[in-house]
Amino acid sequence: MKLHNILLAVLISSPLFAQKSNINPKNIEKHIGFLASDELKGRGTGTKEEQKSAEYIANYFKELGLQPKGTNGFEQAFKANIDTVHALDARNVVAYLDNGAERTVVIGAHYDHLGDGYQRGSLDTAPKGKIHNGADDNASGVAGVLELARHFVQNGAKEAHNFLFICFSAEELGLLGSKYYANNPTIDLSKVNYMLNFDMIGRFEAGKAITIGGWGTSPTWGQVIPPVMDKQKMAFKIDSSGAGASDHTSFYVKKIPVLFFFTGVHADYHRPSDDTNLINFEGEAKILEAVAGIVESVDKVPNRLEYRETAMPMARSMSFKVTMGLLLDYSFNGPGIKVDGVSKNRPAEAAGLKGGDLVLRLDKFMLNTIYDYMGALGKFEKGQTVEAEVQRGSEKLTLKVTF
Ligand SMILES: [Zn+2]
Repeated sequence: MKLHNILLAVLISSPLFAQKSNINPKNIEKHIGFLASDELKGRGTGTKEEQKSAEYIANYFKELGLQPKGTNGFEQAFKANIDTVHALDARNVVAYLDNGAERTVVIGAHYDHLGDGYQRGSLDTAPKGKIHNGADDNASGVAGVLELARHFVQNGAKEAHNFLFICFSAEELGLLGSKYYANNPTIDLSKVNYMLNFDMIGRFEAGKAITIGGWGTSPTWGQVIPPVMDKQKMAFKIDSSGAGASDHTSFYVKKIPVLFFFTGVHADYHRPSDDTNLINFEGEAKILEAVAGIVESVDKVPNRLEYRETAMPMARSMSFKVTMGLLLDYSFNGPGIKVDGVSKNRPAEAAGLKGGDLVLRLDKFMLNTIYDYMGALGKFEKGQTVEAEVQRGSEKLTLKVTF
């Protein structure tokens, strides 16, 4: 080893050097503290408080010297359709770090939440008028995007990728902001190598594994992630699927490899008690350091990441005696499961189900999520006939499904 290599090794391993480029939990605390304060009233899509959150994010991107990549400065306005008649004025906030590289990484998180309980999605029994601060969901993810943006601007290194930092609106209404961006991109999506999504990364608990989703969307993930997590001494579990109930799904369906970081559901999930005082800022900093490590590792991969289609959520771990022949919208947040299409000559078609239907109940099982549907299917036998309660537009139907 030459002298300058030794010096370099000493520098890299010294805590002083590390601190300079390191993720700072104080910054994470500041961002979450503001976004999840009562002043912002839960950042409901289309509210003036959500607009205020967007301005906070845009100002921070500007302070960092990032390029605006919305359609009006940093903002990309769109209509968030909540049903066939009503739409809300919503906006994504988009910034770009140009490293002159061939490929780009998208780093995203949604900044909207449930507002003061008038929007659907709350698990509180009487949500109206209660501020759903959404500190973990998803001020924590936004803080992750902002702090990583600062890190990649100020670390003194030029990465082998460009970065698109994006905070989505209307995720809670069905991934509307990320869907809109993926269909109306402000950069060439064919240059995007992969997408990273943070949704609820604030409740890290020492000794408990974090979940990394999207594992199956590229064979490279299995090579680069374990050494990084090992170095961080962080336990993790994987979810192979590229589709799930958050914004990475919108990029996965465009055939872009994705990763989704998630510290897990908890008793305060989608309730007014999801507050800043329950966030583990140090833990989130550790997760973001791991993410930066993954980015650095992929920088050393010479080729574009290979994209793989993944199995449906849980399809691997469950076995069914019956199936319905439904094609589902995996990005739909419920309640109910949303039918995208119906396979020919299968029980769903025979029962009269159609694309666009919401199935709310099967037999005695209420279907709040896709997992309830999977669970219900596991209980039925071939030849059995059960009732399906279906919402079709404004109509409620009861159909008979024979397996
Ligand atoms: Zn969320």
